[in-house]
Amino acid sequence: MQPNTSLESIHRAWIKHLLFRRANLPLPPPSCADPAPPYRHSLIDEEIIQYYYRRIEPSRGGKPLSEIHERSRQLPGISRDKLQGDCEKCFGLCCVALPFAASADFAVNKDAGRPCSNLQADFRCGVHTDLRKLGFKGCTVYDCFGAGQMVSQVTYGGIDWRQAPATAKTMFEVFPIMKQLYELLWYLTESLTLQPAQSIHGEIRGLLDETLRLTRLRPESLLELEVAAHRAKVNELLLRTSELVREEARPKETRKPAQGRQKAIRRGVDLIGANLKGADLRAANLRGAYLIAANLKGADLRAADLIGADFRDADLSGANLTGSIYLTQAQLNAAKGDARTKLPPSLVRPAHWTA
Ligand code: SF4
Repeated sequence: MQPNTSLESIHRAWIKHLLFRRANLPLPPPSCADPAPPYRHSLIDEEIIQYYYRRIEPSRGGKPLSEIHERSRQLPGISRDKLQGDCEKCFGLCCVALPFAASADFAVNKDAGRPCSNLQADFRCGVHTDLRKLGFKGCTVYDCFGAGQMVSQVTYGGIDWRQAPATAKTMFEVFPIMKQLYELLWYLTESLTLQPAQSIHGEIRGLLDETLRLTRLRPESLLELEVAAHRAKVNELLLRTSELVREEARPKETRKPAQGRQKAIRRGVDLIGANLKGADLRAANLRGAYLIAANLKGADLRAADLIGADFRDADLSGANLTGSIYLTQAQLNAAKGDARTKLPPSLVRPAHWTA
């Protein structure tokens, strides 16, 4: 089908003008050859941009206008497979915006906002295949939950910080805020899959929609956002979800006042280097636990709450993590494991794990 000719008259230059405006860039001077946009007063900028993507650059994934109108009333859900970094669509934000301190995870020091010396002109890593060998293990662990492509392609409309250096500072400040919002989306979407928490799914959906709305804010609004307050609100709901899930999954013999070893396993517990080989940690509360270099070979972690647990160099060989809650890919990437480690379905076996 041929595009509608009146709509076709929306000139590329005008679209670029809108994209620049959305990204808070100085507006390029209008060209005499640019026709007046026919929908200047009747369509919002976002719709014109989406029209551009749909008709002129369909490969960039625009949506039919009918869906866009729908979207303005009702935010779409988000599937969990979209909540992972897509470096192809990102302007190398984690390689620029974040600071590194020379350590076992990073071979060099780097200040926030300074591009890593290994970042290439096309925003790809020049040492991607040798990161661990060259001392950049931290880069193989990190996951932005999809915040990088959101900031690059939506918040800044596909205009990168090299093309538009005036946006660099705010883009790098917006990225860690967006990363926090996307991390919350990861936990909230997981919460909606947990049947024991069905009684509070309505509240979870409400906060999921609110978080999605926040991800669509413009850069200046994102910078003013009180992320800590929003996190606290989400966390309260995640805690309630966790209690419902663990209560249902807890083995009968442990449904009594905490004592001995059960008492020792608690939120934020220091288990650095602990020998937990074959431990029964079903439905345990390991929120924020320090499990660095712990021996968790063959441990049973089903229905355990693992949010924020530090698994750096922990050995998960043969461990059972199916049904554990709030585990992320970055936590797995930081740990050791093998082909026998059982994983939740939304996570993948890290490439560096032994067979
Ligand atoms: S080493 Fe590669 S992946 Fe790590 S920050 Fe530098 S460019 Fe990015």
